[in-house]
Amino acid sequence: MYPTINFYINGEFTSGNATKHQSIINPATLENLGQLPIATTRDLDHALQSAQAAFESWRHSSPMERSKILRKVAQLCRDRAEEIGRHITLDQGKPLAESVGEVKSCADHADWHAEECRRIYGRVIPPRDPRVRQIVVKEPIGVCAAFTPWNFPFNQAIRKISAAIGAGCTIIIKGPEDSPSAVMAIARIFHEAGLPQGVLNVVWGVPAEISDYLIRSPIVRKVSFTGSVPVGKQLAALAGAHMKPITMELGGHSPVLVFPDVDIARVAKQLAYFKIRNAGQVCISPTRFYIHDAIYDEFKKTFIDILANINIGDGLDPETDMGPLAHERRLATMDQFVQNALKHGGKIELGGKRLDKTGYFYAPTVISELDDQAQLMTEEPFGPIAPLTRFHDTEEVLRRANALPYGLAAYAFTNHLQTAHQVSNALQAGMVSINHFGVALPETPFGGIKDSGIGSEGGIETFDGYVVTKFITQR
Ligand code: NAD
Repeated sequence: MYPTINFYINGEFTSGNATKHQSIINPATLENLGQLPIATTRDLDHALQSAQAAFESWRHSSPMERSKILRKVAQLCRDRAEEIGRHITLDQGKPLAESVGEVKSCADHADWHAEECRRIYGRVIPPRDPRVRQIVVKEPIGVCAAFTPWNFPFNQAIRKISAAIGAGCTIIIKGPEDSPSAVMAIARIFHEAGLPQGVLNVVWGVPAEISDYLIRSPIVRKVSFTGSVPVGKQLAALAGAHMKPITMELGGHSPVLVFPDVDIARVAKQLAYFKIRNAGQVCISPTRFYIHDAIYDEFKKTFIDILANINIGDGLDPETDMGPLAHERRLATMDQFVQNALKHGGKIELGGKRLDKTGYFYAPTVISELDDQAQLMTEEPFGPIAPLTRFHDTEEVLRRANALPYGLAAYAFTNHLQTAHQVSNALQAGMVSINHFGVALPETPFGGIKDSGIGSEGGIETFDGYVVTKFITQR
């Protein structure tokens, strides 16, 4: 049974004043799963007032109390991972094992925030005058507005909620309309874990209308968004106009550098499977493949062989390696990337088209011989398309890898120690992973540089965006 999707405002699950609704579609079967209420400004005002009222007491809650709730949340995530994962597969499409894995890994995120929120320390600054006491304290910033996307609907939301709540803030979150069950499940879990009313509020609706209304509201003191670069820039500009701090987790265009000293078969297999994870709809997905000339042909053959044989289907089928794209808009975008690649000399080695079956399925696609100006080499496809290109020397490939305005994740595969040092120092990215895919853990900071964003989630940096610094001096 797919859950009923409601708002969660002031501790109540409600459809508020909604008169309009939007259908929730299973991307694998095109079945209608349910209806999502569209918030009116009265609903948003209700959420704002609830979050503001709750902040007056929650800001003074002890870190132990917050920690206890977050621990309970972690436990409930583990207990319910199978059921919640099933709902995520229904409305988002990813294979069940990936959905369940997402929820279980979020239990670790909640635990991390439970631990770290007890360590939001200030400091004592030695005074010039011994009669003076100087201290720095970190205070919760206030009511936060968060906007999270559909690709990791549980993960993206729980990271923002745990950071805000752990810091003593209250939060209004607009989850992804296309895949809403995850954020709904999070609200139920926090509710049952004993979170006081109004600390967390969930709304749905027209994204641009909700973000505009919430960011302009004087009640909101902090804005956090995960999504595309253009939308991130719009929201950042609006937040800036109202002097509100932001955390922006935006798109990337991750380069992958494969050097000639690696085990080609092993690396090609690792990369093929990482590429099709969540059908390529991952902001840290390997995006531009730079393969050394000496191993290019062998790498290409193995990579294509693997992708040609993966099982594509409904994520509920245990045999499925890759599900559909999350919504219909992505199919047209994939076609557009492929058409543009053809204009830039691209040769389609595999796929390049939708699958002839019900659902938003797109074939794993490999394109070679592209020039660096093709759209696929400069804009995030956010789908199962891999452009393979050659490189000859390290300086040249680093120049190409750093040429784009993005800087989220970057990958390199080499067994040569000096090459590993050189590329990890030179790659312009918020996260560099050598010889594996080791990013996005609770204890490590996740975030981008350049157009890929501002601020980090996770790691000991996780609360930085949710606290303000106060200096107190007393004589
Ligand atoms: P989109 O930009 O329409 O939507 C992406 C997400 O942003 C959705 O959840 C949507 O509800 C939200 N959104 C859009 N406009 C908004 C606004 N004005 N205010 C608040 N929220 C808003 O695009 P899409 O077709 O759903 O996805 C396409 C692109 O989005 C991808 O190519 C990718 O670059 C980016 N994206 C990035 C991430 C990420 O993890 N960084 C996740 C999902 C999508």
